[in-house]
Order: sequence, then C-alpha cells, then structure tokens
Amino acid sequence: MRRHAGTGVECCLPDTHYPRPHHALDGTLWHDGLCPVCGGDGTAEGGLCPECQGGGFVLVELDDEPGEAGP
Ligand SMILES: [Zn+2]
Ligand SMILES: [Zn+2]
Repeated sequence: MRRHAGTGVECCLPDTHYPRPHHALDGTLWHDGLCPVCGGDGTAEGGLCPECQGGGFVLVELDDEPGEAGP
C-alpha cells in the first residue's frame, strides 16, 4: 500500500482510485508523485535520496481545492 511520504500513514483505497487523492483511515488526504530527484528509485548519488528519504515518492501540493467562484 502507498504510504504518506511525511507521516507514513497507509492509503486505504485500492490502486484504481486515481485521480482521487490517497486516503488514510485516519482521514488524511494527500497527493503524491514520483520523486523528481531519484525517479522513484529511492537512491541518489549512491546513497539514500535526500528528497524522498528513500521512499521514492514525494508529496504534491495541488491547487484544485473547491472554493469560492470568483472574483
Ligand atoms: Zn492511494
Ligand atoms: Zn527520491
């Protein structure tokens, strides 16, 4: 199961939930993507990738939250 890159909580949805965000049992919602530094490998320059800490994925902030229509 996919884990949150920051807190480590597990996504409880099936792999087919995309493009919906990951969703943990504790209510955490998040998007993630392949680490741009290591390409998901988890290693960089012969060591643990400093960007994703070896997880291969990084959190992605999306500005698609529903909000006020307007101005
Ligand atoms: Zn998920
Ligand atoms: Zn990485």
